[in-house]
Amino acid sequence: MEGHSEAERALPRGGAATRRGGLEFPRVDLRESSRRAWITATHIYGFLSCEHAVWLEFYGNADEKLGAGPALTQLLRRGRELEDRLVAPLGWDEPTYAKGAFAEGAAATRAMLASGVPGLRQAVLYEHPWLGIPDLLRRVPGSSAFGDFHYVVGDVKSSRKPRADQALQVAFYSRLLARLQDRRPDHGFLILRDGNEERIDLDAIDIVLDEVLEELVELLSRGPESERRSTPHHTTMCRDCGWRPSCSAKLDVHWVPGLTRSVREVLAERGFDSLEALSLVEPRKYAKAGVLPEASWQRAKQGAHALRSGAPVFVRKPRGVEFQQACLPVVVLHDGFEARVPLVAWLFDDSVRFAEAPTREDEPAMWHEAMAAWGKSHGALVHSGGVAARLYEARSESSHPAEVIDALERRCTDLMSIVRGTWIFPEPVVLASEALAFLEGARPASEVDSVPLLLEVGDREGLRSFARRELKALESLLRKIEEVA
Ligand code: SF4
Repeated sequence: MEGHSEAERALPRGGAATRRGGLEFPRVDLRESSRRAWITATHIYGFLSCEHAVWLEFYGNADEKLGAGPALTQLLRRGRELEDRLVAPLGWDEPTYAKGAFAEGAAATRAMLASGVPGLRQAVLYEHPWLGIPDLLRRVPGSSAFGDFHYVVGDVKSSRKPRADQALQVAFYSRLLARLQDRRPDHGFLILRDGNEERIDLDAIDIVLDEVLEELVELLSRGPESERRSTPHHTTMCRDCGWRPSCSAKLDVHWVPGLTRSVREVLAERGFDSLEALSLVEPRKYAKAGVLPEASWQRAKQGAHALRSGAPVFVRKPRGVEFQQACLPVVVLHDGFEARVPLVAWLFDDSVRFAEAPTREDEPAMWHEAMAAWGKSHGALVHSGGVAARLYEARSESSHPAEVIDALERRCTDLMSIVRGTWIFPEPVVLASEALAFLEGARPASEVDSVPLLLEVGDREGLRSFARRELKALESLLRKIEEVA
């Protein structure tokens, strides 16, 4: 996202909370130092993922933000291509306006809707500072300011199932639309990647939208200089976030891994914001005050130690897994956007076995080969996440009986969740190779291979080498777990 234009700077900041079309937006008090004057749907659903990222979009130093990497660029391009593929056949027009001139776009949108067009792409719904550009507006019966018809909002999504943040986005657009057409649409809709339409019940989501808008407005009222300024919250999401250099510049309680946001806030409020202060914590003694349980104090102390030393800290013996019997390390490569599994690999007799699906049509045969081989083995199918879900998805295409697949699913053991419970790492780890690097005294590679990118360019050897590396890492992690069990 870019900084705002001259035209945008000239617009008034904030505005009274008003009621029209039966729905209200809260009053906004953006500070003078804000880099942005518009609040969009991106900020609203971004708020649910990381509120600090939204705050940085308004008050952070743009020079500190990294650009989108190849994987994110590919994801965004695929999203646009999907939208074109699903929406182009409708033949609906878009409003035309100069780049960034949203008031002009909103006027063009209003004129097209008033003329009764059957639908509109990329409409501009704008009531300063709120700005929404939904993928679709569709004409439906029922009177409004435009006549004996009104419009409902639709958005195109690449997921296979609707998500709450997507519904919230539609509710936000619908609120802007309600104020424009003087009629609240009673529903919105999502078009999912398979072309199916999901209806969104706005009554159910409007209460949530009200809460999110209130919290968002409160967040944006905090300027950069205030003591109330927003703070980072270190999670796995930070790995792919452009603001990571800014958030990781100061190593304090907000960057200690494995704490919830509320625990971080309680610790910071009580003066335990530096790593030094956290390292002096006496968990049992402090827990007696009743503010936080002993486990939280302990976790904070150990996390601070891991962050300071850059090395994992042993927490407890692994629990809940029987490692005496043979295990079969397995890796399933997955492209979530395309819902594709191009390669499955497993370790057998110290050698790596592959079953591959160069095309989607090859996937049933690939799964047949893999399941047949796994069915001949014994013990846990150890993996680094997602294998049980992929087996579940493959069941409709598999020629194996359901009870065979059920038995394989029951054998799946997510080794990474055991590893993460056994040690606290200096950073959240996802891949087996990342956890192993830390445990061997190294840093994980900063650039991680992307399955969707390798798949898109047809780099079969790249996919094999990714799987080989993760299998070897799983095998090594198994040995490390056995050593400490
Ligand atoms: S790096 Fe993490 S904490 Fe910082 S803005 Fe990004 S997701 Fe939020």
